[in-house]
Amino acid sequence: MDDTDSRRGGCTTWVLTELLSLARETGVDLLGEPRLVRLNPNIPWKTRGNGALAAHFGVGSGPGRTVGSIGGRPVRSYARGRPLSPLRAERFREAAWQRVLERSERGSAGTDPAMVAAERPLPTELYWQAVREVVPVGSTLNALRRAGAWWRTDGDPRGLIGASAAIAWPARRVTWELTAYRTEPRIGLRRVVDADSVRTVAAAHPSLFLCEDPRTRRILVSPHTNCPVLYGLRSTRPGPLLRARSSVRSEPVDRWVLFRTNQGTGDHLVSRSPRDLGPFRAARFAATVASPPEVRRGGHVALHVVDEAGGRVECVAFEPTKTLPRVAQQLAPGDRVQLWGSRGDDPVVRLEGIRLVRLVPRAGRRRSLRCPECGTTAGSLGSSKGYRCPACHRRFPPEASRRPRLEPPLRLGDYHPTPSARRHLAPRGPEP
Ligand code: ATP
Repeated sequence: MDDTDSRRGGCTTWVLTELLSLARETGVDLLGEPRLVRLNPNIPWKTRGNGALAAHFGVGSGPGRTVGSIGGRPVRSYARGRPLSPLRAERFREAAWQRVLERSERGSAGTDPAMVAAERPLPTELYWQAVREVVPVGSTLNALRRAGAWWRTDGDPRGLIGASAAIAWPARRVTWELTAYRTEPRIGLRRVVDADSVRTVAAAHPSLFLCEDPRTRRILVSPHTNCPVLYGLRSTRPGPLLRARSSVRSEPVDRWVLFRTNQGTGDHLVSRSPRDLGPFRAARFAATVASPPEVRRGGHVALHVVDEAGGRVECVAFEPTKTLPRVAQQLAPGDRVQLWGSRGDDPVVRLEGIRLVRLVPRAGRRRSLRCPECGTTAGSLGSSKGYRCPACHRRFPPEASRRPRLEPPLRLGDYHPTPSARRHLAPRGPEP
């Protein structure tokens, strides 16, 4: 499902927890983990992180394991199971849709809930298109018809794009997020999450990522919006999250759920020439720096590069990413780089990362030439004519004052935005 929240409040991940609760009430089992799937981060009509949600329901078999807790009771998940009978599936779908409607921020501008149900996985193309391109809802509707899927919408049907993509996500490259939610009366109040306890769990479990911005020491696990999320712990493995959760000290947790996600996978980035990059899309491409970088008002750095096909591309490293403008500013014409970033309406590429592949040697400052005989500073005889010592009249060739060559000031490798400025999908990199 998708599009259940608004800028004023709500959260689609929370609405999904309501479906997990409904399943438990009605004896329907959860198979595998719920999915939190981030889609094209450049879509202008997203509310916040362009997330869509999916879960697989059926009749579980084998031992279950706990993947959440709602109302003080565990949410169990089964690794294997069989489909619900057609009648139970039909009843569950309709009840789920009613609950989605009840729990959505209906009536708020831009909240148009949508839900899709399918008996088989949907074509993965629906995911790749939704994470990388701008999808017309008509093409999603056609795909849903071809797949024999069931769907409901309330208002604009655009939410079907995200809802279908969440089911279609192949989930090969994955990370995990354990999301903890607030109790109803505290929503809207200042969040109480003990920063030291977050730092301690991050240090104890190296698979956790983006817990803290080491530059500012700011804790990054809590949102700043009016939504029911208290905190989200992200990890490359699920086990440590289940252990870490109980060590985070915070205000009361109403419920928590472990999600399988595509966060940190870089799935939105496609290797393509910036010339083929349409509005609201992202690319990764090789390029050579064409001219000295320009530092603009606000500390943003504009970088002109030439891509492999010889096309000139304007890129910008925004100040809040901290690392990227610092690196971009030190680049020199001729440096070989790989860049990744997105564009909005205009063709400027907003950088999301820089790989330094090869750097041209830097020229040092021109030295003033001292006469080796008497130590007096030699004077120039004019361009390319060399130098003469005014005291002892010795002459020196023009090369005598050549600029020394310096090692480039940067190390080769990947540079990512400072953790607080990273997008949900941004490829995971070292946290400086
Ligand atoms: P939150 O993360 O807080 O749940 P959100 O940022 O996901 O909110 P939504 O309110 O869900 O924002 O709005 C995003 C809308 O954009 C949805 O209707 C979704 O179906 C649609 N959408 C997602 N990806 C694409 C895409 N690639 N092309 C066109 N529409 C898209």
